[in-house]
Amino acid sequence: MSEQFDVIIIGAGIAGASLAANLANTHRVIVLEREEFAGFHSTGRSAAQFSEIYGNSTVRALTRASRHFFYTPPEGFSDSPLVLPRGSLFIARQDQLPQLSEFAAQNDVGDCVRAVSASEALQMCPILRPDYVAAAVLEGAAADMDVNALHQGYLRQLRQEGGHIWLNAEVLELSHNNGAWQVGTPNGSFQAPVVVNAAGAWADQIAIRAGARPLKIQPCRRTAVLVDPPPGIATASFPLVIDIDETFYFKPDAGLLFLTPADESPVEPCDVQPEEIDVAIAIDRVEQATTLRISRVRKRWAGLRSFAPDRSPVIGFDPRLSGFFWLAGQGGYGIQTAPTAGALAAALIRQDLPVELRNLPIDELSPGRKALTAATT
Ligand SMILES: Cc1cc2nc3c(=O)[nH]c(=O)nc-3n(C[C@H](O)[C@H](O)[C@H](O)COP(=O)(O)OP(=O)(O)OC[C@H]3O[C@@H](n4cnc5c(N)ncnc54)[C@H](O)[C@@H]3O)c2cc1C
Repeated sequence: MSEQFDVIIIGAGIAGASLAANLANTHRVIVLEREEFAGFHSTGRSAAQFSEIYGNSTVRALTRASRHFFYTPPEGFSDSPLVLPRGSLFIARQDQLPQLSEFAAQNDVGDCVRAVSASEALQMCPILRPDYVAAAVLEGAAADMDVNALHQGYLRQLRQEGGHIWLNAEVLELSHNNGAWQVGTPNGSFQAPVVVNAAGAWADQIAIRAGARPLKIQPCRRTAVLVDPPPGIATASFPLVIDIDETFYFKPDAGLLFLTPADESPVEPCDVQPEEIDVAIAIDRVEQATTLRISRVRKRWAGLRSFAPDRSPVIGFDPRLSGFFWLAGQGGYGIQTAPTAGALAAALIRQDLPVELRNLPIDELSPGRKALTAATT
């Protein structure tokens, strides 16, 4: 006998959690998560940076619309702030100045940044090498996010509204009969008219299991490394420093420095681990740009950033398969876009779009959009 719900959400990362919290006051919701704890995959492995000028224009629109939530979450959502200020400093060498100008000339970037001279960049981050940085732009309103506070806030809200989450519940079977989805896990089966694919790197696998056309959502590995800060230099107020071609970035992280080679290696969905070569590349690139000399890695990890072919998230009902909803392809932006993505997905499932969400590029997010049809047929 299956338990009955209105909506079954597959995946308890930030995508599934944000939708579940937004929907549980009007729908009977259950979230099914394969792992022992929510946030084991991409959501627990991010760089936690909020930037309104990162990603393509569709991503930027979702991020801008999420700002209010981060700075003014609902009463009782979190005991601690969800964001703390940390500017993003985009740096360029002499040979990268054209890319810096082109970047700052984009409409929705120019309004958010100011030009910074090489000497000012060095004041903000004194470990940068004077012979490396030719110019920079600063996004002053960027921030560090508390990903755990956001994720736990959503899961708490879900439970308070009477919703459910089942851990150790891998979805192995999906079938659709007489208007209802039947979802099988080793610990029980569930039935609902709507099933949501919020399975992150496994989104295409879930689609295939359900009989939907996969959307070529490609998981890509990104490596992260924590190292000691340089002795005698106060690093806590450094901005996030990012190469304009995104070949590396670094920022302070709880008394240490977080570095990444900003790798994007296509891999099969898995519990991804860092490769030694990527750790070495991260260290090499950061050492070239700074006076840091890194002799010890304190911690290393990798996570998956999963992209649709046009690098925009996929949010909406599948155009061919009744009751199958996509909330996938969050790429490298799934945390900073979650407040709006979760609210939008809930509104689309309710078929009741509030005024404040009507300006979003909904067609650009649809699983039926041209860019995806072209790439998958
Ligand atoms: C190194 C790195 C840096 C990043 N930096 C940032 C950043 O600064 N800012 C930002 O906004 N984003 C960043 N991201 C991206 C962000 O982490 C992701 O976009 C986001 O976490 C995706 O969330 P998700 O819920 O879609 O995926 P996940 O967190 O991976 O959740 C998907 C869940 O689905 C579950 N699942 C899969 N298959 C099944 C099944 N069959 N049955 C049940 N459950 C299943 C999985 O176990 C998993 O828990 C970064 C990512 C990485 C790796």
